[in-house]
Amino acid sequence: MSNLEFIKTYGHEEVAFFQNEKAGLRAIIGVHSTKLGPALGGCRLYPYASLDDALFDVLRLSRGMSFKNAAAGLPLGGGKGVIIADPKAKCQDLFEAYGEAVDSLGGRYYTAEDVNTTVQDMTWTMNKTKYVVGQDGVSGDPSPYTAIGGVDGIKAVAKFLFGSDSLKGVKIALQGLGHVGFDMAKQLLDLGADLIVSTYSNRKNMEEAKSWGAKEVPDADIYSTECDILAPCALGATLNYKTIPTLKCKAVAGIANNQLLDDECGVMLKKKGIAYAPDFIINGGGVINAGQEAFTTYDKEKVLVQVHNIYNTVYNILEESKKTGEPEGVIAQRFAEERIKNGLK
Ligand code: NAD
Repeated sequence: MSNLEFIKTYGHEEVAFFQNEKAGLRAIIGVHSTKLGPALGGCRLYPYASLDDALFDVLRLSRGMSFKNAAAGLPLGGGKGVIIADPKAKCQDLFEAYGEAVDSLGGRYYTAEDVNTTVQDMTWTMNKTKYVVGQDGVSGDPSPYTAIGGVDGIKAVAKFLFGSDSLKGVKIALQGLGHVGFDMAKQLLDLGADLIVSTYSNRKNMEEAKSWGAKEVPDADIYSTECDILAPCALGATLNYKTIPTLKCKAVAGIANNQLLDDECGVMLKKKGIAYAPDFIINGGGVINAGQEAFTTYDKEKVLVQVHNIYNTVYNILEESKKTGEPEGVIAQRFAEERIKNGLK
């Protein structure tokens, strides 16, 4: 599908291109939907090979944010910003120019950190616009909330598989001991899980996790590890035509974005009898935390109540999938689309 067809098919409301020669800014902001509220989604900085590649990314990611925000029950739409640049060229001028771009949309789009953008970059962005969330000293780092939601989602999966959400003795293979994965590993061990872990970098985290009782496997072996739940917490597209046939788990539940290479992979999991907690539902804790800044005064207690609700959403989707035979991702997307169409209840 060409980018124009994509816009036509998925109904983006607004796609704006920005250029500021002096600051070196070339950016696109995609507003997919403001049906539930202002669009929210992070700003990705990447040396895209072409304008078309950047456009494709912003179209796909902004639509994904509409689903994620709706499924999380946030009165927010979906949007995304991309800056076409080398991460080494980041500077204050660039993000101030980006801030002017965000501001020119008059609050229809709120931005935040994403791949290759940091709290510092957003602080520069804020010199020119107030439409920034995930601010230092307000909601701050989203990772701990993503981890809480991830563990809740895993508990819901255990309840679905075994009739109890106790994780005592549940064998979990977790991939990726980064910001979120490491935090989840600690919580899962505290809850008595039998934890197996792999990671590319972060050896220090690995040694610490092992000292708490986790067992290490080489990353190549994590997919074929016999376990109850596989928790992908590293990169996207790890569930693909090569890895799915090797899986020896009963369920997949992790917080990495875009875990399935494509929709057909969701069908493959279903055919193998493996339950799947849709990624954009189970990893919504971070956006629930940051998103609150866009529509009300930040309140940590309210955030936690909403993050813990990920448990119910995951559980209900698994039950519906068992009843209808549809892949969980299909049900999750329909759930989000209905909310966008009919509003939050
Ligand atoms: P991170 O960069 O801190 O950690 C990623 C970890 O994965 C690193 O430790 C890296 O060594 C490891 N890794 C990469 N490839 C691997 C592989 N093939 N096998 C084993 N380990 C591998 O990132 P993060 O913030 O923890 O996020 C992890 C994932 O969760 C990403 O997909 C991210 O998009 C998604 N996510 C994060 C948040 C958040 O709040 N940080 C929110 C929603 C989704």
